[in-house]
Amino acid sequence: MQSVDSVIDNVKNLPSLPAIALRIIQEIKKDKISNNSLAEIISYDPALTTKILKIANSSFYAISSGVESIDRAVQILGQEALKNIALSFVIVKGLKRNNVDNFDHEFFWKRSITAAVSAEMLASRLNGKREDTFVIPLLMDIGALVMYMINPHEYFKVFDEKRVSGLTTVEAEKKLLGYDHQELGSSILMKWKIPDNISQPIAYHHDPENCPPDIKDVVEILQLADIASSVYHSSNSTQKMGQFRKLLKEKLKISDEEVGDFIDGIAEKTIEVLGTFEIDPGDMKPYSQILEEANTELGKMNLSYEQLVMELKQEKNKVEILARDLKGANDKLRGLAFEDGLTQLFNHRYFQDHLEREISRIDRYSHLLSLIMIDIDHFKTFNDTYGHQQGDTVLRAVAEVLNNSIRRPDIAARYGGEEFAIILPETNLKGALVLAERIRQFVEDLEIKIDNQALKVTISLGITFYDPAKGRKKKEEIIESADKALYNSKNTGRNKLSIAQ
Ligand code: GH3
Ligand code: MG
Ligand code: MG
Repeated sequence: MQSVDSVIDNVKNLPSLPAIALRIIQEIKKDKISNNSLAEIISYDPALTTKILKIANSSFYAISSGVESIDRAVQILGQEALKNIALSFVIVKGLKRNNVDNFDHEFFWKRSITAAVSAEMLASRLNGKREDTFVIPLLMDIGALVMYMINPHEYFKVFDEKRVSGLTTVEAEKKLLGYDHQELGSSILMKWKIPDNISQPIAYHHDPENCPPDIKDVVEILQLADIASSVYHSSNSTQKMGQFRKLLKEKLKISDEEVGDFIDGIAEKTIEVLGTFEIDPGDMKPYSQILEEANTELGKMNLSYEQLVMELKQEKNKVEILARDLKGANDKLRGLAFEDGLTQLFNHRYFQDHLEREISRIDRYSHLLSLIMIDIDHFKTFNDTYGHQQGDTVLRAVAEVLNNSIRRPDIAARYGGEEFAIILPETNLKGALVLAERIRQFVEDLEIKIDNQALKVTISLGITFYDPAKGRKKKEEIIESADKALYNSKNTGRNKLSIAQ
């Protein structure tokens, strides 16, 4: 690790002060220098003259009358101020390189000029404006630039260290190099014979607590200016803005709005001043505009987010409707699978399945079951007489009687054609008989109104009773048994019920 002094004394490729800057400094040091001699030096350099006139006439100095000559500029701004302006221009011009490698010279000077403009504005507000207020912050980070120039490799290590360890720039520099850019910047300016009023505060611009009391005000402005510049030129500008807002409110006792206006003013003035330094301001714009644009972007994002949510909701609704429809369709399908379309009783298939299940349950738990088979009497004749449609009406009417006669666990089914069946779990023969008779009576009493006529039908019924305790039976045997009983009713007069043997 090297000391700053050994760097200054031994490093071969230290940048030197531009010749014209040297002359300006030397001339100004002479006692009783006339305004004219500074003007003369400046006038030798037409480009410098143009720049100085440009800045003297810019809103930055807000001089009402036009400044058309350097002589006039010296008169209005004063020799000291003009010297510093001239120094600013020549040093930036002398040190500025085209962007090579990874070091962004343009950015470096843009950042420095923003700090310089910020310092001028801050000093005006704090009544601490001096002739060197611009040039000091302009040169305060020159140590970092020089570090890069003498050893780019080391310089980038500092930034890597900073990123990795979270140290401040000054801490990382000290850790890796043994010195920091404050010391180096200040030392190199001293070596260039730049006056102490400029070089000294630069040594403390990140360390106002430890600076000599007589330069404390300047150093504090440097620190504030550095933060203000970071609002525009650092990756964490929001955090820097918060920091700046807090400090400025403490120092100036101004409102949030005024802080906002102040920060906006920095960008506006900086853009103008950058022009005089022939540096492209790029996309620099007032902070409020940056925020506004960010908000607009955010708004767009929110909008598209809301739209997305809305679309999702619509899709969800569609899916829900679809699911409901599907459920309805499924219910219907399931119904169709179980239900007889004409009578809305259970269909033959369901009857078979259900009876099967009931039988196995009864077998397992030693319960019992009755089955009634029903057939409409002379239904063919009815159909032939009144037509198939009237026949259907009868089928529905009989079905309704059946449905209204049974209880919860019972099921009534259309067995086929004009045949019906009723399964009666946990119902003994006596119970089944009572129900069968009631149904027979009901149907007999039924008046089926067709064409102002009250038509009558009767039914025949066959009843069987299954008790597994008295011997297991298969489904087919049980049905056959009820069927036989039914045919017994048919064969013995109809409109009656018979019990299986
Ligand atoms: P029985 O008293 O001996 O039972 O005589 P039946 O005429 O009722 O018996 P059969 O089996 O000879 O005739 C059944 C008739 O039932 C035949 C058909 O016309 C009628 N039928 C069957 N299914 C339907 C139907 O879905 N709708 C209508 N309207 N009639 C049907
Ligand atoms: Mg019949
Ligand atoms: Mg029949």
